[in-house]
Amino acid sequence: MQGVIGVYSHNDASTKSHYILYGVQHRGQESSGLTTAGNHSIRTWKGKGLVSNVFDEKFASFTHPTDYVIIGVASGENSNNGIAPVESREHDRYHFSLALDGYFPEKQGPNEYMFKKSILMHLEKGDSFVDAFKAAMKEHRDSYYSLVMAVWDRRERKSMLIAARDERGIRPLYMAQSGDSFYFASESAPIDVLENMGEEFTVRKDVVPGSLLVVCDDKITEEQVLAPRRAHCVFEWVYFGRPDSVIEGKTVHVVRKRLGHGLVELHELNEKYGDHKGNGLVVIPVPDSGRSVSTGVAEGLGVTADEGVIKNAYMGRTYIIDDPKYRKIASDLKHNIIRKTVEGKKVVITDDSIVRGTVSESIAKNLRQAGATEVDFLVSYAPIFYPCFSDPPDKPLAAQAFEGKSMEEIGELVAENLPSIDGVLYNSEDKIIWAVDLPKEHICTYCISGCNPFR
Ligand code: 5GP
Ligand code: MG
Repeated sequence: MQGVIGVYSHNDASTKSHYILYGVQHRGQESSGLTTAGNHSIRTWKGKGLVSNVFDEKFASFTHPTDYVIIGVASGENSNNGIAPVESREHDRYHFSLALDGYFPEKQGPNEYMFKKSILMHLEKGDSFVDAFKAAMKEHRDSYYSLVMAVWDRRERKSMLIAARDERGIRPLYMAQSGDSFYFASESAPIDVLENMGEEFTVRKDVVPGSLLVVCDDKITEEQVLAPRRAHCVFEWVYFGRPDSVIEGKTVHVVRKRLGHGLVELHELNEKYGDHKGNGLVVIPVPDSGRSVSTGVAEGLGVTADEGVIKNAYMGRTYIIDDPKYRKIASDLKHNIIRKTVEGKKVVITDDSIVRGTVSESIAKNLRQAGATEVDFLVSYAPIFYPCFSDPPDKPLAAQAFEGKSMEEIGELVAENLPSIDGVLYNSEDKIIWAVDLPKEHICTYCISGCNPFR
């Protein structure tokens, strides 16, 4: 997954692109990059690491103060030749650079190369740049992308900013306009930051799936190149997105609270936990992704959610560690328990998902050590049956063992394998769709339903 941004502004585009790029860091922590363009040149600065590592004081002298087109990316990609943005200087008139959050099934090398290759091919045939871009969109209808591109026109000596989203809109892309300045980001939350700093937006919206936006000569043109066939990835609301983002009109935090309410209804938790309410029950989240969910569960139960697990925010991501032994050590180091919250109580803990059970088991074990009498694990998502079509095929998946089992049986099976957890309760697809509150046919639930939006 990637976080992409785009800025077109004659008023300090460099600083503003920085602000927004920090805001998409949660979508990728392995590499960061920016391409800056204007009336003189196009140049890219990128490297491994967080935005704060890559854009050090040396970058300040690299930017051109009059550059007004900037695109950027915070990415989970860290192979040496895979770091975006990807530049193209092959064509003699147009030099361009692109970054995208997406997936190309036939890709060799970074996803960006596939799109770049198509554009170059159509430019060679004599197409205008925008026509070449549209042709590339039509060519890659089996792919998905939220894409930003800076284009330096060497003949006219000016630059333009392009943004586009595939027809299914699998990954989010958001835009805002303030006078003749235009901003793009994977999510709305990073755009809010500019508003907090005094920018006044006249337009704020999700980029429509299948559309192409071109900002050139201080004006924007928008074209629906492909008719939308919406299939928004449901995991954006469940896990990927920031709680303060609004995706397709739905605030992520609110959706997550509704996932909590859904769990309470689905498993009749008011009846199940009735005896423990009062002093014997505490609802806590696994930080941070279980937080809004625990608020929803607590609301549904009529109790107050508390904090019982504290995350050391400087430990980085444990999910991506391959070796199970080190993943467990990392989780133990990262999460500590507030004994006072859980001692002598039945603990109901919420998270978005259980994949290999490392985080959940390590936290549950430590909760017991801190005096919890029982630990129920509520999962805001459903059991994951199918690895996402955009994940590498060797991705570990416990769910093969789930085949043919009911949700209750799956919960029991998972709980049996996680000795510190008494019960595992999942959400259902219906409750998840209800929580997102968009038409079912507009949401991709492939990993839990097997319905592939590309077939
Ligand atoms: P597990 O320890 O069960 O393998 O991983 C589940 C935990 O990893 C959850 O706390 C979840 O929030 C977190 N997590 C981090 N990145 C991802 C991701 O890309 N997908 C999923 N499903 N969970 C993730
Ligand atoms: Mg988590």
